[in-house]
Amino acid sequence: MNYSKVMLEEYLLNLGEKKFKQTQIFEWIYQKHEYNFANFSNVGKNLIRALEKDFKIEFIKIEKVLEGPLVKKFLFRLLDGEKVEAVLMEHDYGLSICVSSQVGCNMGCAFCESGRLKKVRNLETYEMVEQIILIEEYIKTRISHVVVMGIGEPFDNYDNVINFIRIINDSKGLAIGARHITISTCGIVPKIQEFMDLNLQVNLAISLHAPTNELRNKIMPVNKVYNLDILLDVLKQYIAKTNRRLTIEYVMLNMVNDKEEDAYNLCRLLKGMNAYVNLIPYNETAHIEFKRSSKERIDKFFNILKKNNINVTIRKEFGGNIKAACGQLRSESD
Ligand code: SAH
Repeated sequence: MNYSKVMLEEYLLNLGEKKFKQTQIFEWIYQKHEYNFANFSNVGKNLIRALEKDFKIEFIKIEKVLEGPLVKKFLFRLLDGEKVEAVLMEHDYGLSICVSSQVGCNMGCAFCESGRLKKVRNLETYEMVEQIILIEEYIKTRISHVVVMGIGEPFDNYDNVINFIRIINDSKGLAIGARHITISTCGIVPKIQEFMDLNLQVNLAISLHAPTNELRNKIMPVNKVYNLDILLDVLKQYIAKTNRRLTIEYVMLNMVNDKEEDAYNLCRLLKGMNAYVNLIPYNETAHIEFKRSSKERIDKFFNILKKNNINVTIRKEFGGNIKAACGQLRSESD
């Protein structure tokens, strides 16, 4: 079902039903895992008939599971035959899932595997929710954290992604705490603005990857539309308005964006901002020529940031051996 609480309440009111029925419907679907409306025993016959007419509960399918240490990659087949991937990671703080938001991606970041297939379509809300439901059923355990960092640009599928967040965050839905949910965007400024106005307690991560327009233009085409000045401006507004710490993702590409000068430029850009930088060692792929920075270069970059009072961590690596790491997920098989 694609409907969030508010949408379902509106649907019920339009039918002349009481809006609290929304709670019962959500409980049946997301907590009791009952997908046949006829079995909703506390719901009246008329409403059941209406639900049967207006909604269909259908499931995407797990087509393949690859397992590595502390990580599993799931390939899903959607009802129209398209495919997307999601990744389950075991952290010391709990289980997290990295979900996909589109089939393919149009952002064209030069280093990313997911965008080699151009966007075929947006994922529907239920297709994102079901990535979580199906993985929870598969491992028979609850998931505590969700990151929207799989295939696709979530803010290029804004409405469906926001509905998805509302459903998984709903106490009668999957009840995943807002602070345990992170959306990552390459920097679609008007949507960051809309997102900030929603005032959700969800974390925001920005794929920055370069500290100057000259360099960012070369590796992230989105920068030609929303350049660093415009982006930084809205990010500062976001921090001021939400009082939340922002995550800055910075993938370490050998000899491209990992020079000392880049580190100093990044410090200047982020100075005084309530942000922390997550350095991502680049995951090389067969089709793309970028190389991972050496450990020495990453450490040097890290130390420059640290010395300049920028909060910084190096991302823990998961799943490289099963092509489940950042930037390696895809919507098509070889
Ligand atoms: N489109 C969104 C969501 C993708 S998140 C975004 O751009 O934020 C996936 C993260 O992994 C992004 O920061 C992306 O830039 C980064 N990434 C892409 N390819 C990578 C690779 N090969 N190695 C490491 N990180 C990569």
